[in-house]
Amino acid sequence: MPESPPMLEILSRIVQEVSAAADLAQALSITVARVRAAVAADACSVYLTERGPGENVLMATEGLNPEMVGRVRLKLHEGLIGLVCARAEPLNLEDAPAHPNYRFVAETGEGLYHGFLGVPIIHYRKVLGVLVVRSRERRKYAEHEVSFLVTLAAQLAGAIAHAEASGGIEELPGLRASEPRFLTGLPGSPGVGIGTAVAIYPPAELKAVPDRPSEDPQADEAALRDAFAAVRTEIQSLSARVKDVLPPEEHALFDAYALMLDGDSLLGDAIARVHAGNWAPGALRATIQEHVRRFDEMNDAYLRERGEDIRDLGRRILIHLQSRTAASPDYPEQAILIGEEISATQLAEVPRERLAGVACRRGSSTSHVAILARAMGVPAVMGVDDLRIGRLDGSPLIVDGYQGRVHVRPNAMVLEEFRRLAAQEARLASGLEALHDLPAETPDGVRIPLYVNTGLLADIGPSLRSGAEGVGLYRTELPFLMRDRFPGEDEQRAIYLQVLRAFAPRPVTLRTLDVGGDKALPYFPVREENPFLGWRGIRISLDHPEIFITQLRAMLRADAETRNLHVLLPMVSRVAELDEALQLIRRAYQELVSEGEPVRMPPVGAMIEVPSAVYQSEAFARRVDFLSVGTNDLTQYLLAVDRNNSRVAALYDALHPAVLRALRQVVEGAHVHDRPVSVCGEMAGDPTAAVLLLGMGIDSLSTSAANLPRVKWVIRSFPRARARELLERVLELEDPRAIRQRVHEALERAGLGGLVRAGN
Ligand code: PEP
Ligand code: MG
Repeated sequence: MPESPPMLEILSRIVQEVSAAADLAQALSITVARVRAAVAADACSVYLTERGPGENVLMATEGLNPEMVGRVRLKLHEGLIGLVCARAEPLNLEDAPAHPNYRFVAETGEGLYHGFLGVPIIHYRKVLGVLVVRSRERRKYAEHEVSFLVTLAAQLAGAIAHAEASGGIEELPGLRASEPRFLTGLPGSPGVGIGTAVAIYPPAELKAVPDRPSEDPQADEAALRDAFAAVRTEIQSLSARVKDVLPPEEHALFDAYALMLDGDSLLGDAIARVHAGNWAPGALRATIQEHVRRFDEMNDAYLRERGEDIRDLGRRILIHLQSRTAASPDYPEQAILIGEEISATQLAEVPRERLAGVACRRGSSTSHVAILARAMGVPAVMGVDDLRIGRLDGSPLIVDGYQGRVHVRPNAMVLEEFRRLAAQEARLASGLEALHDLPAETPDGVRIPLYVNTGLLADIGPSLRSGAEGVGLYRTELPFLMRDRFPGEDEQRAIYLQVLRAFAPRPVTLRTLDVGGDKALPYFPVREENPFLGWRGIRISLDHPEIFITQLRAMLRADAETRNLHVLLPMVSRVAELDEALQLIRRAYQELVSEGEPVRMPPVGAMIEVPSAVYQSEAFARRVDFLSVGTNDLTQYLLAVDRNNSRVAALYDALHPAVLRALRQVVEGAHVHDRPVSVCGEMAGDPTAAVLLLGMGIDSLSTSAANLPRVKWVIRSFPRARARELLERVLELEDPRAIRQRVHEALERAGLGGLVRAGN
């Protein structure tokens, strides 16, 4: 086999084809055919591991008897295939029959083969199956062939895992998936949503178009004909416009376009698909993909490029189709929006009573759509890497916003379990309502004020109704994110005043601008290799005093009317930053005083969200009026786990002993100077964590409106003294899972089991 780059090219071509395949069966047959050719093997097969009974099943083959697909079943550790699975390593044998584990499978005609190379297909540590090539003669595969198969198997694993999680695997002949299936993402908004997937796809993006049943094939056919005709006219006028400026050979491209549109193959294929049941945009996508694939398979680079032309035509036709079908879709009664990215307006388009949940392939809990979903009380899961939007459209889904999971085509048992959970949730919510007017006070008389986190004016209503004692964190970057330029002083003042007024006389903590990291302003682009370790939060504010002072002046002027402002500084990592920021706050104050504004110097706090701030919390506390711990960032920095990366989401755990110890150190540091310390990260809203924070001596908590009543229940049920004892015992443990388990047991004993069952 030739050396790279051809190998890389073959690889990327196979991967492309596999990802465009209509289903897993097609993806596997493409794989075996291409791999056999690439390594000049006599046979190539894929075995997949069926979980329940633990058998490896032949799922696709090129070279062995195809009748045996779905029929050849080997015990989990049987034969060479079993050995590859057990060792989770490639096995490369010159003469397979001579190996003690060799098992002859007559039906496949295996006896004819000597050379054997099997590589495991692994997805996040789990062996999903084996990709194997065989040759008739004795042959040990070369190192570059082994690495070719290993690389391909790693890529194939994602597609198989998705099919496993989404039920696609059941469509394969003879394979039964018996494990609970779900796709993993990040919690975006708490709650459980049960409903039907509605794909939200960006306009004019062909590959995102889902398959949907055609409601009226005649009308779909007419729409296709019209769209083709419209593009034909468009191309003609484009062609006329550039005729004089383009050399003839380039201009020939337009003739080629016209030919493709006139010929029967594209339009005819698309119409056939419509009559076979697909709606017009889906039929167009499938047709274009198939034609592109044919070009992609060609060895001639020039012809391969023509695939791009077909894609371009496809996009143009789609735009016309979409302008006809642009009316909002008919949302099912319980719609679960799924999309690559979903915008705030797309969310807002769905009638609230029909919106059951949201699942996004990208983003995290700080994405705009997640924040909106929380404000609206809609469960959401973000960052679901394996979400294949087009394939899931119309499927039954469950969105578990607590765990960050999406259950695809759930079976009756899973459905029943989640229905029970949702009902329990509803009961819990009505029970919690009774706590609305009661203070957040422990049975042994310790008051722990509970505040809300917000950043949207739309959030004010739910926040007020939650019974919060004020706002513990107002993320001012949100109004900044929604504009196309920095908002001016008066504009900002008006926004801040609305929040301050809504809660007055209760305190409202406005955090100064915290952009950078994952929060980029569209009009202030910052491109960095490592944005979370880069220019963000206070660092930007200090480097741009004109932006910072404008914001501070707006805050102070709003407060002149309400007198309930607290200012909070994000991402502080050294005392010099704190000193400079305090100096600028005093400057803004002095300026306004000299301008005759009736302002006052507000209490100022520092966020503790990077490890260096933990070790200097005492020095910070000496300088400011209060500390507020941002556990979202602190956890990510202490554990070196990106808070927005679903691949490492399982490692992101605020109950890690290192995080708990850091928090304890912060409380001690703050209390040396009698400064109150609050927690405003998501951790504060998790009942399991809240009981430990209570034990640490945290003075207040700030969480989303949705989580606040649960936390109040914990505070009202758990004496501080007991929380302290629990914390001491928990800190002897070394593993976050053991810690969670221990706290759950304590909550169950205190009659708070309902909280952890629904919430964690
Ligand atoms: C945090 O980091 O915990 C925090 C509250 O800030 P943000 O989530 O806005 O980064
Ligand atoms: Mg933060």
